Amino acid sequence: MSAVRCDGIVQIYTAQDVEVVALRDVDLVIDPGETVALLGPSGAGKSTLLWLLAGLLRPSAGRLWLDGVEVGRLDQRRLDRLRSTHIGMVLQNPARNVIGYLSAAQNVAFAQRAVRTDRRRVRDLLTRVGLGDMGARPAGRMSGGEQQRLAVAVALANAPRLLLADEPTSQLDAGSGARVIDLIKDAAERDGTTAVVVTHDVAVSEALSRTVTIRDGRVGAEGRRGEDFVVVGREGAVQVPPEYHHLLPPGSMARIEPIEDGVVLRRTDT
Ligand code: ADP
Repeated sequence: MSAVRCDGIVQIYTAQDVEVVALRDVDLVIDPGETVALLGPSGAGKSTLLWLLAGLLRPSAGRLWLDGVEVGRLDQRRLDRLRSTHIGMVLQNPARNVIGYLSAAQNVAFAQRAVRTDRRRVRDLLTRVGLGDMGARPAGRMSGGEQQRLAVAVALANAPRLLLADEPTSQLDAGSGARVIDLIKDAAERDGTTAVVVTHDVAVSEALSRTVTIRDGRVGAEGRRGEDFVVVGREGAVQVPPEYHHLLPPGSMARIEPIEDGVVLRRTDT
């Protein structure tokens, strides 16, 4: 069973009577224990996809399954329960991930409220994010980088099936960033946690098992073990990666020539 399955997901925002199509026909299947870096330019739809996977948004169209459960069929109470037992999330803004007046240890323990409280896990997670001696400090008095490391511990507190993180290393120095990467990989290996991480950090994308690039609201490319592939979309559309725009710029005409195992695109209007 897939950890995540998106089938034709469309997300449309309406702001001041203007419609913004943030995602158009996203198909994506992620296996349990996969660690996926979600890449793409700003405004491509990465955060929107993350929020959908977290159950914080309901898609305008299309269907989403998490561990075989169709999210659209859950009422709010069941969705809330799924989120608190199955999902851990790290938002981009460190201060939004933690409760300022609670101590670091209380923040992690609070994230276990829907599952059994496990004090050893709380201590272990704090140590693994390098906050072992800061358990009693109020989260509101920590630096942005410390709060972000605490956020990762909070997100893993309930041993989630699915870990979602938006730029978790952007506030961190290389050493702390490496700790966060290790935690994500460890969670996948030890607990089978599936991770989807929005990132611009090459150290993160290289460390994870798969990359998925979103461009203009669509899955444009995928990478596995350092090899990059374009993805043929629902209606047969293929995005030419930006590194080939000098050969085949957007708006140019190309001839399609079949070869034995695919096609070649050859520019005709030069
Ligand atoms: P990314 O995370 O890749 O930068 P987002 O998912 O944040 O992209 O945004 C995708 C598109 O949707 C952008 O055009 C953005 O302006 C728009 N968008 C995001 N959130 C909202 C919102 N709450 N209301 C209206 N438009 C939004």
